Amino acid sequence: MERVQTEAERRVGMTADITELPAGIMPDYRREIPPELRQRQGSWVWHELVRPGVLRHLGADGGELFTVRILLPPNGILSAPTLRQLAHWIRKYALTGRRTSRQGFEFVGVQPAVLGEMLAELQAAGFPAGGTGNTLHQVKCCTSFIHCQNAAIDAPSIAQVITDYFYDDFLHPELPAALKISVSGCPNQCGGGVEADIGIMGRYESIPEVDEEGFLNANIDIGLLLSWCPTGAIQPRETARGTLVTIDAGRCARCTSCVQVAPEGIKLQQRSYAAIAVGGHGGNSRYGSEMATVVWPRVTAQPLQYGQLLERIAAIINYWRRVGIPGERLAACLQRTGWEEFLAGVGAEPFAEPGTGRRAVANKRKGIEAGQL
Ligand code: SF4
Ligand code: SF4
Repeated sequence: MERVQTEAERRVGMTADITELPAGIMPDYRREIPPELRQRQGSWVWHELVRPGVLRHLGADGGELFTVRILLPPNGILSAPTLRQLAHWIRKYALTGRRTSRQGFEFVGVQPAVLGEMLAELQAAGFPAGGTGNTLHQVKCCTSFIHCQNAAIDAPSIAQVITDYFYDDFLHPELPAALKISVSGCPNQCGGGVEADIGIMGRYESIPEVDEEGFLNANIDIGLLLSWCPTGAIQPRETARGTLVTIDAGRCARCTSCVQVAPEGIKLQQRSYAAIAVGGHGGNSRYGSEMATVVWPRVTAQPLQYGQLLERIAAIINYWRRVGIPGERLAACLQRTGWEEFLAGVGAEPFAEPGTGRRAVANKRKGIEAGQL
């Protein structure tokens, strides 16, 4: 009689074709997987969090391996010495390694026998394990001033200060659920923000400024410039000296795209600040995906003047600690308790209608015109 396949065997069968993946342009991910791990591909039946930063994977054969997630410097920027250090730990303790989607790092395939020694060594070297489950996860951020000309705030230094300030929450699972904080230097959101439980986003005080002399002298391609504006805020304007443009403050999202296309003729304003938004999440809750809503639109965030930011982030986290139900992400907590109670709880003025993305009504009530924000 033909033997019935076990579930694990069936899954291994499902991965069989992967070994015949044709060579392509993309560097082949399979070369990053050592034979010990490839042989067990598809045979995993269970995983669990055993402590912050440590996941246990159980195979159908009863074998187990661990994944260890550590804190990396902000922005995922890694020097050669740091990469060498990570490589050293992979060779010593794990089968391979992986950058996480939140710019952290995981050692994959750690044997149980070396786990304790590894965790102690990582902690002593300043790369503690943590950031899984009900903890603060790695704070994600864009590059900002490191090599971007659009930054209104310095996302990496903000991410670092936030992590230092809430470091205990990275190590200890005492939050109601996972907490993901993302920081972006400008509305382009390369570091995320609207998808996070708490999003910090750099914004300029006002819309970009047209430098008429520079614009006319630079012979700018007007058609290209107009096509880059995502909101149709730029309109051409004929003058005796040539074609100039006008920026409609009511439409401008301050995305900085026009400055990239025409840096000689359109300049960013100097004054900037951060907006703090809450309640974004990627869909792993009963409410599905939702973009974060701005709570504080204008918070001082010049390099190293981060006190106002930290106070407000602490107010959000403390509110959630007080009223959150175990397992309840921040967005779900806000849905349950209501926006008004949340604003009162964190000491914020009503600013935006939650979840709608339409702030105009709430702003109008407060007498804030579009373009002033
Ligand atoms: S979010 Fe803005 S500042 Fe940050 S890297 Fe992107 S464009 Fe640059
Ligand atoms: S900053 Fe963005 S939205 Fe505003 S005018 Fe320039 S391209 Fe358009």
